[in-house]
Amino acid sequence: MNNGFPGLRVDLDRLRRGPVEWTGGLPAEAAAWALDELDFATGPTLRYRAEPGGHGGVRVIGRLEATLRLECRRCLRELLSPLEIEFDFRFDPSVEEWDEESSVFTLDPDAAALDLLRPIREELVLALPGYPVCREECRGLCPVCGADLNESACGCTKEQSDPRWDILKKMPSDAAEAVSALDDERDGNDGQGVG
Ligand SMILES: [Zn+2]
Ligand SMILES: [Zn+2]
Repeated sequence: MNNGFPGLRVDLDRLRRGPVEWTGGLPAEAAAWALDELDFATGPTLRYRAEPGGHGGVRVIGRLEATLRLECRRCLRELLSPLEIEFDFRFDPSVEEWDEESSVFTLDPDAAALDLLRPIREELVLALPGYPVCREECRGLCPVCGADLNESACGCTKEQSDPRWDILKKMPSDAAEAVSALDDERDGNDGQGVG
C-alpha cells in the first residue's frame, strides 16, 4: 500500500544498530497520499532522523517542505503556498491509542518497519491553510456579475455575499452529481410508501 514511499519506512532492525537518517523527495501525486484536496506544485522533500527512544520506542524528528497549489478563496486564482512542517514523533509500544495531538503513536513490537506515512499525513492536514487568499487585500469576485474586482469595479449594486455558499462554488462536479443522485433517491423513496 505504501510502495511509493520507501523513504517513509524506517527499518526497525536497522534502527537497533543506531540512528537512521534519511533525506529525499516524496511523490507529489495526491492519490499517493490519499488526500484528494492536496495539490503539490512540486514534490515534497523530507528529512528525518529516527533514533531508539527508550523502552523499545522510537523517536523521529524531521522536517517536510513542500509547495502547495491552492485557490484563492476570494478571487479563485491559483496561488502557491510554501509549507514547512517540523515534527517530533514518538512511537511507543506501550501506547495503545494514536494521539495525533501530542504526536505519540503506537508501535507494533513485531513490526519490521515503521511507517511514517500516516503521522506525516496528519501533520500535513493540520498545516493546510483553512482560508488561503492570494494576498490580504484581494478584493475577490463580484457576487452579482462575477467580475474580478481586483481588475476593475463592475458597477453592480453592492450586495453582501453569503460566505456559506462559497462551498458550492468549490464543490467538484462529481460531488454535485452525488448530491443530486441522493435527491433523486429520496424522491423515489417518497413515492413508494408502505402498503
Ligand atoms: Zn485573490
Ligand atoms: Zn458586478
